[in-house]
This record gives sequence, C-alpha cells and structure tokens, in this order.
Amino acid sequence: MKIYNTLSKKKEEFIPIEEGKVRMYVCGPTVYNLIHIGNARPMIVFDTVRRYMEHKGYAVNYVSNFTDVDDKIIKKAVEEGVEASVISTRYIAECKKDMEALNVKPATMHPLATNEIGGMLDMIRTLMEKGYAYQAEDGTVYFRTRNFREYGKLSHKNLDDLQGGNRSLLVSGENQKEDALDFVLWKPKKEGEPYWESPWCEGRPGWHIECSVMSKRYLGDEIDIHAGGEDLVFPHHENEIAQSEAANGKTFAKYWMHNAFLNIDHKKMSKSAGNFFTVRDIAGKYDLQILRFFMLSAHYRSPLNFSSELMEAAGNGYGRILNSVDNLNFLLQNASGREMTEEEKNLAKELDGFTAKFDEAMDDDFNTADAIAAIFELVKFANTHAKESSSAPFLGALKGRIVELSDICGLKVEKKEELLDGDIEELIAQRQAARKAKDFARADEIREELLNKGILLEDTREGVKWKRV
Ligand code: AMP
Ligand code: ZN
Repeated sequence: MKIYNTLSKKKEEFIPIEEGKVRMYVCGPTVYNLIHIGNARPMIVFDTVRRYMEHKGYAVNYVSNFTDVDDKIIKKAVEEGVEASVISTRYIAECKKDMEALNVKPATMHPLATNEIGGMLDMIRTLMEKGYAYQAEDGTVYFRTRNFREYGKLSHKNLDDLQGGNRSLLVSGENQKEDALDFVLWKPKKEGEPYWESPWCEGRPGWHIECSVMSKRYLGDEIDIHAGGEDLVFPHHENEIAQSEAANGKTFAKYWMHNAFLNIDHKKMSKSAGNFFTVRDIAGKYDLQILRFFMLSAHYRSPLNFSSELMEAAGNGYGRILNSVDNLNFLLQNASGREMTEEEKNLAKELDGFTAKFDEAMDDDFNTADAIAAIFELVKFANTHAKESSSAPFLGALKGRIVELSDICGLKVEKKEELLDGDIEELIAQRQAARKAKDFARADEIREELLNKGILLEDTREGVKWKRV
C-alpha cells in the first residue's frame, strides 16, 4: 500500500510502526456552527482510508478531536449570552449527527481540547525545561521556533523566508516575542473568556498544542498517520511537529496526509468567505450518500469543485449501483436455493478479479476514483449475468461483492425502505404533539428521522408540508 507523504512529497510504501496496527490522528473541526461540506471532505476521505485499512486486516486506532475552545466559539457564546461550553456541546452533537448521516464511523476516540488542559500544561512545562519555550512579559508562553532546527520540514518552507513574510503580520502584544516565527502555547485570559489556572498565568491554550497532546495521550509519542485538510500543513501541522518532537524527542508521525479543498466556483469553500453549504443544506436536496459518492469520485489530493451538475452526475453513478443491488434483491426473492451450476461457479471465480482491481486502485494512495470504476465494472458484470434462472447462491455472491466493495467506500447501496404516506402523516402528528409539549428535542428527532428516510418537512403558515427528496 502506497501513501503520498506530504513530508517527503513522495508516495511511500506503508509500513506500520507496530505490525497489524495503525495509529491515526485526524484534526477535527472547531465547533461553533454546523459543519459545511468542505469540512465533510476530510471526514469522508479519512474514514474511507480507515475502512480500507480495516479491510486489509489492520486494527485501526482512529483519533479525531473537537476543538472546543477558540475565539469563534467564544464570540458566538457572547452573542447568544451563554457559556462557551453550551455552544461547543450543541455543535458537537450536530456534527455527530452529520457524520452518522454521511456514514462516517465514529472515531475510536473523540477527545475534547477542554478535557486535556492538564496534558497541555505538562507538555508546555517540558518545552520550557528543554529551552523550547519562554514566557513574555504579558504572561504569554511562546514556542521558540528557531531552536527546533527542522522547522519547515513539512511545508517545505525555509525559516528565513518565513521570517521575512511574518514580520508584516505582527499584531499587538506580539512585539514581546523574541522572534516573529515564535507561536503561542499559552495565552493570558481576557475579560469574560473561559480560562484555566497554570504555572504562568490564568489563561487558555494556543490552538496547536491540543493536537500534540491528544495524539500523545491516546496514540503514543509516535504515530503512523496524521491527517487533515491541506490548509493545516502550515502553520498548524508544522507547529504540532515542532512541539511534539521537541518535547518527546521522537519522530511524531511517519506519514502526513492532506486532502485538497472542496471549492465552489473554483474558490475554497469556507465559513469566513461566506461561500458554503452546510451538510444540512445538502441533506435537504440530496441523499447524503450521493454527497459521499461525489467526494470519492475524485482523488483526495485533487481540488474538487462543487456544482449541481456534478451532484446530478454523482446521483446517476450512485443510482447505477443501487439499481443493480435492487435488481439482485428482486431476483433473489424467487431464486432457487439449488447449488451453483458449473457455469455459475466459473463466473463467481471472476469476482476476485474485481476486488483485485479495487484493491490495486486503493493501494495506490487511495485512488477512490479508480476504485469506484472497479465497482462499476462489477455492476456491469452482475447486470449481464444475473438472470431469473440464476441460483440464489450465485445471485447472493454477486450482491455480496457489490455490497462489500461499496461498504469499504462507506457507501450504503441497499435502497431505503419507502415510507407510506400514512406513516409520514402519523410521524408529523407526533412531531406537532412534541412541539406543543415543548419537547423540541423529540420534535427535531422526528424531523431528522423523516429526512433520513427521504422526507423533507417544511413549516408553513398553512401548516406542515412534506415532500419526498
Ligand atoms: P476547521 O473547522 O476550519 O478547523 O476545519 C476542519 C477540517 O476541515 C480541517 O481538516 C480543514 O482542513 C478542513 N476543511 C475546511 N474547509 C475545507 C474545504 N473547503 N475543503 C476541504 N477541507 C476543508
Ligand atoms: Zn490538529
């Protein structure tokens, strides 16, 4: 299995630190809003990497954090007049719902930054003892970047170029830094912000330290894969390497993987630019499995432009797999349970060829586009050879193989059971009753349950309307 490593800028053979095991850390979202479909790209991509590794027989320890202390969370909390934790708890729950709807498996562990402050203080203390950190007059603790000789090795940047470029970025208080390249490990509290006690000042951590600490705590000093979107290469991951390797004295991660952006009109989709769709927006228009299919139809290191035309095309592609499985299910209902004929046995032997093609694509730095092409070939093969006269074991083998390969991509390919109009009306009535009783959690749950089954509710002045999506 070959993985493109941002560190070496090459595809390298994957050799795990410990045989049969993969330790993997994926930087998770900052939780102050519903996630957008750009945030969903790393979730889908690295979930697929994990699923493929598991298919290959590895036990994968997959850790992905939630950043639950951050300026944007605090700003939102002030706007709503609530504690920051109210905001982060709400959006973690929403993010988990979106992940489930996208068929992204829960991580082995989803640590929260605010639960790991003790570990952060320990690591900062170690960095200070080793001369890699210092405290400025205003109490801020900085990482002494130039002391970490290999700084820049991930982003392939030269320290002196960075120094020149960074000077113009100086902001207030930063003039207390020894060097423009130094970055914050711990900063003093501001009025109204959450804060923690520390040996230096009451305050809160800088952003980068949390990942170094959570990765160490849940996966150890050395891990196999560290991943995230390409905007994290610099400075976030570069700073993580500096902190972890300076503190632990060991290589932090062997393979660094980064997905390219999901764009809109060929520009990065981002909250700050305002050009984004949330996963929820898309769920109102498409089956989220189509979004997953769309994401995987491109290589993860290629930029991907979001458009309704491409989503239509993805819907058609995904539909081909769905229809094939549907047809096999239909034939299976009346198929004979007899043994396979010789001809069927020979055809069934050909199925391994499709798995081999699929694996070959995935072994080449997770080329999901080619892997999906292998599924299409398999679908064509199934459509050609599945007949009314086919035996149940043969039809089952065809279906089983399509489902197995699709499942490695996290694609559900059995058609959803259709809800009858009466059932929908009944659920809508239950939702209205829950709302009346101010049980909004239950009301939301029903709305989502319906959405998952392809029914979109619209609250209008004339009452609740629904449509199939
Ligand atoms: P954030 O909440 O901004 O820290 O982002 C969480 C994850 O989503 C990070 O791995 C980002 O790199 C990734 N990400 C954010 N925007 C995009 C985008 N438009 N395309 C792909 N990945 C993105
Ligand atoms: Zn991180």
